[in-house]
Amino acid sequence: MSRAATGEGTLVVLDIDGTLLDTPHLPAWRRGLARVLGDHAPDRSAEISVEQYHRHVAGRPRQVGAAAALGIAGLDPTPELVEELAVVKQELFLEQAEETVLFPDARDFLDAAAREGTPVAFCTASRNAGELLAKRLPGLDGGDWLLDRLHQSLGPHGHYGDVPRPEALRRVARAWNWSPDRCVLVDDALSGVLAGQEVGMRPVLLDRFGLGVAAPGCPVVATLDELRPLPGGLRLPVA
Ligand SMILES: [Mg+2]
Repeated sequence: MSRAATGEGTLVVLDIDGTLLDTPHLPAWRRGLARVLGDHAPDRSAEISVEQYHRHVAGRPRQVGAAAALGIAGLDPTPELVEELAVVKQELFLEQAEETVLFPDARDFLDAAAREGTPVAFCTASRNAGELLAKRLPGLDGGDWLLDRLHQSLGPHGHYGDVPRPEALRRVARAWNWSPDRCVLVDDALSGVLAGQEVGMRPVLLDRFGLGVAAPGCPVVATLDELRPLPGGLRLPVA
């Protein structure tokens, strides 16, 4: 595969859920949906496929994900149902969240980035992801350095609240005083990649499940092992 370095002075913006952390969001959505359907539409199926999850739910704010999940089950996503599902899903997610681990390739990538001094930053649409990641970084070689970079990326609250994804990406770039067109975004969700393109970042789609999702002009990798952290950026495949 031909490869190109991003050159000096590239900020590497890493999505957290699904890119670095193997977070149990999909099981929580499935169980949450089953519970809501049990109360309101017991004849419907709560099955959300991996593909449906990545196409319509992953990487979105919780309410948007809840509306999509209800739609997948064939239910009208009224504000009351959306809120109910969002709350139930969050409860179930938090029950399971302590089991969250870094993907092995993410661990290797972050170790290499810390070794090389790669300018990495972090971005998430979730209120929990930053905290979950913060608990797992100290186990890495460059844990303190990575923790500092996580805190600078997400700000004093550790998350951006429910802002749309493009705005979250703009805030990360601003937190580092870099213009978005000098940032590379690595994200496992198509919605994240499209948001990156919208704000002028150069995205790389991490297709861990081989879903064959593609965005024009966006390189796709199956694992973070295909990306090499460099002192000034990242070596990445050509789209
Ligand atoms: Mg993600």
